[in-house]
Amino acid sequence: MRVVLVGGGHAHVHLLAAAAANPLKDTDLVLVSPTGWHHYSGMVPGYLAGTYTEADMAFDLRALAREAGARLVEGFATSISAARGEIDVEARSPAGAGAGVGARGGASAEVQRISFDRASLDVGSVPVGLELPGVREHAASVRPMSRAVELRERLDALVARDHEGPVRVCVVGAGAGGVEVALALNRRILAGGGGARVTLVEAGEHVLPGFSERVRRRALRVLHRAGVTVLVRTRATRVAPDALALESGESLPSELTVWLGGAAPPPLLGGSDLPLDPEGFFLVDAELRAVARDRAGRPPVWGAGDCIALEGAPWMPRAGVYAVRQSPILARNVLGAPDADAAPARYSPQRSFLALLNSADGRALLRWKGLVSHSRWAWWLKDRIDRRFMARYQR
Ligand SMILES: Cc1cc2nc3c(=O)[nH]c(=O)nc-3n(C[C@H](O)[C@H](O)[C@H](O)COP(=O)(O)OP(=O)(O)OC[C@H]3O[C@@H](n4cnc5c(N)ncnc54)[C@H](O)[C@@H]3O)c2cc1C
Repeated sequence: MRVVLVGGGHAHVHLLAAAAANPLKDTDLVLVSPTGWHHYSGMVPGYLAGTYTEADMAFDLRALAREAGARLVEGFATSISAARGEIDVEARSPAGAGAGVGARGGASAEVQRISFDRASLDVGSVPVGLELPGVREHAASVRPMSRAVELRERLDALVARDHEGPVRVCVVGAGAGGVEVALALNRRILAGGGGARVTLVEAGEHVLPGFSERVRRRALRVLHRAGVTVLVRTRATRVAPDALALESGESLPSELTVWLGGAAPPPLLGGSDLPLDPEGFFLVDAELRAVARDRAGRPPVWGAGDCIALEGAPWMPRAGVYAVRQSPILARNVLGAPDADAAPARYSPQRSFLALLNSADGRALLRWKGLVSHSRWAWWLKDRIDRRFMARYQR
C-alpha cells in the first residue's frame, strides 16, 4: 500500500513521528514537501523580533522522514485526483524563489505523477487577497512560514541602509498573526538603532477578530505603547515597492509591506476533485476523511490543519493548536490502527483554546476563557510551551 502525505505541516510532523515509533509493514510512505524544513508558526514572531534563531523554530522533515522510513519528494503538489488515485507534483528550484508573497520558485517545473492508495493533506492556507495588484510581486509574508526568513532579511537590509527618517513598514491584516508580526518588526527596527513607523492595516471593524472586546482593548494598549499605528476599517488595494494604496484613494509610504490577510484555501484544492466547503476548503468528516461526493463513497483522502473544513463545525478557527490536536486522530486513521478491527478515531474540536500572543517586549498577551493578562509570566508560559512542542519533533 502506498500512503502519500502532502505537506509537512504540524499534523504530518506528528504522523511521521508516529510512523517512526510504530514501523509500518508493507507500506510505501511518501512525503511531498517543497523543502526539507518546516517552520513552526508559534515561534515566528519571536524569530522576527530576534529572540529565536531559525534553528530554534525549524523541523527537519528530511530526518523525520528518514526515521519513519518515508521517501521525501521535494516539490509542490499541484493537483490531486481522488478518482484516479494520483497526485501531480511540480519540482521547483528553491533558489528561484522571489521576494513576493506568491513567489514559489522557477517556472520551468518538472511534473511527477505519484499514485496512492491513501493520501493525507496538511498543506496549510494562503493569505486572502493574493490576487490584488502588486501583492505577489512586492509584499512579504510568513505563509508558508519559511517566508519569515526572507522577511527578516529584507527588514535587516532596510534597517542597515542609511536612513533619513524612520523605517516605514505596513502590516496588512490585524488577526493574531498580524498583531504579533507588527510588534515583532517594530521591536527589531528599534533594536537595530533605527526609527520605526509600523502601521497595522485592517479592513474589518476591529483588531483581533474572533477575540473578546477585553482582549482587543488590551492589544490596542500594547500596540499603542509600542508606537504601532492601527488603522481599522481601512482596506488595502494595491502594493507598490514603496507604498501601500488604500481603497479611500490614499497611499501610505511603505518600504516593506507584509501581507497577512486571513486564511484562504491553498491553490492545490482548486485543481483537485476533492469535496470542498463553500469557501473552497477541503471538507472532511469527524474521521478527518473526505466526505462522500457521490455514490462512489468517501475517497481515501484525509486532511488536517488550516486546509480543512470540518463538516458540521464551520466555526472551527484556523490555528496551529487545532492542527496539533487533530494529528493523533489523523495518524491513527491514515496509518491504520494497530488493531485493524478497531473503529476509526473521531475528532471533536474544542470550543476555545489558550491563546498566547508574543508582544515582543518580554511579555505575552494571554487569553484563556475569561482570563486576560499581558505579563512576563504569560511570555514565560508561551516560550515553555513552544520549546516543549519543538523538542518533541526536533532531530
Ligand atoms: C505569524 C503567525 C503566528 C501564528 N502563531 C500561532 C500560534 O501561536 N498558535 C496557533 O495555534 N496558531 C498560530 N498561527 C496560525 C498557524 O500558523 C496555522 O494555523 C498553522 O500553521 C496551520 O498548520 P498547518 O499544519 O495546517 O499548515 P502549515 O503550518 O502552514 O504547514 C503547511 C505545510 O505544507 C506545505 N505546502 C503548502 N502547499 C503545498 C503543496 N501544494 N504541496 C506540498 N506542500 C505544500 C508548506 O510549505 C508548509 O510546510 C500563527 C499564524 C501566523 C501567520
